[in-house]
Amino acid sequence: MDETYLTEAIILNRQPFREDDLQITVYSRDRGKLFLVARGGRKAKSKLAAHLEPLCRTEIMVVRGRRYDYAGSAVSADCFGLLKSDLEKINAANKAAKMIVGSVKEGVPDEGIYNLTLDLLNELNRGKLKPTLVSAFFTLKFLSRLGLAPELYHCVLHREKIQPGGNRFDFARSGIVCPKCHASTGSLPEMSHPVPSLSKESNLPISDNSIKIMRLVLQQDFGQLKKIKTGVKIEQEISSLVDKYYQYAIG
Ligand SMILES: [Zn+2]
Repeated sequence: MDETYLTEAIILNRQPFREDDLQITVYSRDRGKLFLVARGGRKAKSKLAAHLEPLCRTEIMVVRGRRYDYAGSAVSADCFGLLKSDLEKINAANKAAKMIVGSVKEGVPDEGIYNLTLDLLNELNRGKLKPTLVSAFFTLKFLSRLGLAPELYHCVLHREKIQPGGNRFDFARSGIVCPKCHASTGSLPEMSHPVPSLSKESNLPISDNSIKIMRLVLQQDFGQLKKIKTGVKIEQEISSLVDKYYQYAIG
């Protein structure tokens, strides 16, 4: 009575489960996030575990069970070897995996998220862009997939087109606030947020270059973004703004 199906999935993480088993979290192309048990996966000679390494793309035969679904067999298709030889790249990929584990619902397919994750692993593997940037670009695109893209063209308060100079990224209001509105926000009620430690910095300055790059990131896919040239300062600015916005948006 067991039902089985084959799915292509990216292994997000795995952890010990029961005495000999592993619990694996994957993001599959056609079924979204899944929790699977790999029987005997903790045994030293487990062939199954060798094909269920985190941050690999794998074909998995899933066996549906009453309490758990099992990875019946698996064949890894791509393990992104160049990515795995660089700690900074591994950290960037793990950060993305953690976001997916923490913020998407189980069993809800979204091929856009699947392809975005694959793009991230391929980009880190190719190494054209710095891992910090790849990570920030992924975060921005991922938030956009979840319907949380920030407004980067019009002031979120008075709705007019953003002009160069003096703008701020307002995390609670999900977008750019122009200098005029920022100067007058003293009279506006503060946006409250469930993360109190962040409330002091509900907005930060954003440079014109960062605005331009973030717009491009939301319009183009990773393949097109590799031509983007930035300095360390812009990289840090984008990375820090996007991280803070993620905390605000996801909480
Ligand atoms: Zn304004």
